Amino acid sequence: MLRTLLICAILMMLGGVSQSRPYEAPGTGVALALAEERAARVTNLRYELHFTVPPVQSAPVSGRVTIRFDLKDASRPLALDFAAPSHAVAGATLNGRDGKPEYVTDHLVVAASDLRSGANEITVEFRSADAPLNRSAEFLYALFVPARARQAFPCFDQPDLKARYTLSLDVPAGWTALSNGAEATGDSRGPSSTVRFAETQPVSTYLFTFAAGRFTVDTAERDGRRFRMLHRETDAAKVARNRDAIFDLHAGAISWLENYTGIPYPFGKFDFLLVPSFQFGGMEHPGSVYYNAPALMLDESATQNQKLGRASLIAHETAHMWFGDLVTMRWFNDVWMKEVFANFMAAKIVNPAFPEINHDLRFLYAHYPAAYDVDRTAGTNAIRQRLDNLDEAGSMYGAIIYQKAPIVMRQLELLLGAASFRDGMQEYLKAHAFGNATWTDLIATLDRRTPDDLAAWSRSWVEEAGRPIIRVDLKANGEAVESLEVTQEDPITARGLLWTQPLSVAIGYRRDGVGTRHRMTGRALRISSGATVPDYVLPNSDGVSYGNFVLDPSSRAYLLENLPADEVARGSALVILWEEMVDGRVLPRAMFDLLVKTLPTERNELTIQRMLSYLQQVRWRWIPDAERADSAAAVEAMSRAGLNAANTPSLKSAWFNALRDTAQTRSTLAWLESVWKKTETVPGLVLAEPDFITLAQELAVRGVPGSERILSEQIARTQNPDRKARMEFVRPSLSADSTVRDAFFAQLKDPIKRRREAWVLEGIGYLHHPLRAASAEKHVQPSLEMLLEIQRTGDIFFPKRWMDATLSGHRSPAVAATVTKFLAELPAGYPDRLRRIILSSADDLLRVSRQGRQQ
Ligand SMILES: [Zn+2]
Repeated sequence: MLRTLLICAILMMLGGVSQSRPYEAPGTGVALALAEERAARVTNLRYELHFTVPPVQSAPVSGRVTIRFDLKDASRPLALDFAAPSHAVAGATLNGRDGKPEYVTDHLVVAASDLRSGANEITVEFRSADAPLNRSAEFLYALFVPARARQAFPCFDQPDLKARYTLSLDVPAGWTALSNGAEATGDSRGPSSTVRFAETQPVSTYLFTFAAGRFTVDTAERDGRRFRMLHRETDAAKVARNRDAIFDLHAGAISWLENYTGIPYPFGKFDFLLVPSFQFGGMEHPGSVYYNAPALMLDESATQNQKLGRASLIAHETAHMWFGDLVTMRWFNDVWMKEVFANFMAAKIVNPAFPEINHDLRFLYAHYPAAYDVDRTAGTNAIRQRLDNLDEAGSMYGAIIYQKAPIVMRQLELLLGAASFRDGMQEYLKAHAFGNATWTDLIATLDRRTPDDLAAWSRSWVEEAGRPIIRVDLKANGEAVESLEVTQEDPITARGLLWTQPLSVAIGYRRDGVGTRHRMTGRALRISSGATVPDYVLPNSDGVSYGNFVLDPSSRAYLLENLPADEVARGSALVILWEEMVDGRVLPRAMFDLLVKTLPTERNELTIQRMLSYLQQVRWRWIPDAERADSAAAVEAMSRAGLNAANTPSLKSAWFNALRDTAQTRSTLAWLESVWKKTETVPGLVLAEPDFITLAQELAVRGVPGSERILSEQIARTQNPDRKARMEFVRPSLSADSTVRDAFFAQLKDPIKRRREAWVLEGIGYLHHPLRAASAEKHVQPSLEMLLEIQRTGDIFFPKRWMDATLSGHRSPAVAATVTKFLAELPAGYPDRLRRIILSSADDLLRVSRQGRQQ
């Protein structure tokens, strides 16, 4: 109640300010102040849009937009967003009169004399920038998230000015087009065709899209709904193998969500486009979802994780239709809400379809390691961040949003109970349908359903960064337990936060533990255990709690030799021991030994995958090069044995990929080469085109004799034109000749060459491969210097991925020193978010180099 009054008071103050304030220039980007000013003035917004896509890729896309809206307060100018050069505006009509809005950086400002109170109509003819249109010779797709619609057409590019769009497109003959609205008419006479789409529901600019190109269209009907899948896959057998599953997964997700939310699918038709080398896993444009093609079109060798990943991705994007598209964050600082809801719902949707999977274990592996990878670093951020300008919206995304927030949301559901939580979500969705809401709105809705203080809970978990240190203290008197206590502390002592959360503690004798459930609300928790000292005490044995767990020394020693029998407890122990290693409490060699000892007997596929991933990391990064070479034969023999013993294709594939990525000895490389040549086969494992490409590339980065011939032959062998083009792009990064590799890097200074981000990242990864790290050290400094421009020109995940790909192969003190020096000498005004990205990407490198000095 109090909170509601307060919000009203603030809104009244804002209203008062905006009316008396003199008009200010809108500045660059889309500033929060500008967005608030416009949201208070503009309502009832509609865009009528036409784009002409020429058949020649080098010719610009041009268009015309008519913007209709009601305006409050016509006494002041009104800024549209349009981030294109001033000459990109060809003409304009302002409320029936020819005129030209004033062009200032990133905006077109309409003078007060051209505006009216009430209904307004502004028409602008323009040329679009290519960047958000992702053009290639045979197709294009618009990707406007987070605020790039303004590069394609003049608009109000903020999520809380939702609008109805009516679109028509002129596209080259033979191209298929899609957009959010249903296709109304198509007219395909002459060299181009015109496609008109029906008016959309109210949607935010970042969710508006269109695509056109040479696509194959597959349709299917499920539950009375017609789905269309547009794609460019050339392998008909692959399409046939995947299509039913893809349609089924969509239909299943829709019906689950309609049931959970109590709201029918809100956007009419449902199409989706499979984009080769898409920047993200998927993008949730209502009625027109885009996916990264390989994530949906699985190869026969697909692992269990890839199948789960596909189901989760489809459920995630479908959940966005309600969470994000129907109800949208008011501003991008709350972008995490839509991501967490989508992930959270995806887990609920996907789980029943995979009854053979241990879902608690899967949740643990899918979220905790990645969340900790960022949250343990000095570069971490709170789930909810401040955002003054949409220019910086891209850097809000990352593991804290995608991995930590779902962990926190699961705890919120546990706090409220599943039924109350669902009721609260339904109320929230209904109250804000086709509108916008903030995290505060949701917490207010949920707070009425619990006696707990959700605002205090939200402060520790959502508004502040980091994780508690949770320490187990076991005191023994001979064989008898004297006391067992778990304490929590804030690593930032001065802040002194307390994190309320459920905490399970397993008391283990031999490998069997018995978990007891507690609720950690204060600084210390006393736990009653058996009278005899246990072999181990394992906090977070059910994988629900979150923190930097510090084991007691005897439990640590025991668990490094014997992981618990229970699957979730074993997974949790594994993750905790890894964190202890990163924090310097477990030696990398001890972690390596544990993995090599445990892997041959492990039966759970998810745990095998996780262990293989840790094994790669510990070998390439945490143990010295000489030790890695010494252990190579033993690790490869273990992987060959694992490959032979694996009894499912997905497990075979996991072991094979691990062997391929760790191979160092001459005999294993020779064997892999004969697999690549197809003179050897792996019984039970079918390798597809992408597998052979990766195999050829991994052989080349190891400099096997005849590498260039292998690469040439693989390119010649590759049937799919998109994959062929990608491999040609990546190839120089694999060259044995360092001058060729240097030239690969040098060309990336040109933003045009960085357009295909997935390609660039693959090449950068090979350039900085641990086996080539020494010769790549010189590229680290320029890569750091390019980050600022990369944020400006690239898509939202690119800055972090660029830094990860650059640094993940390095462990030398020299590279650590380069990064440290770069950070120490940052100029004033350098974006804090980019500084944090560098800190989090460099965290392992800095720790490895620190620990190396101590040893
Ligand atoms: Zn998402």
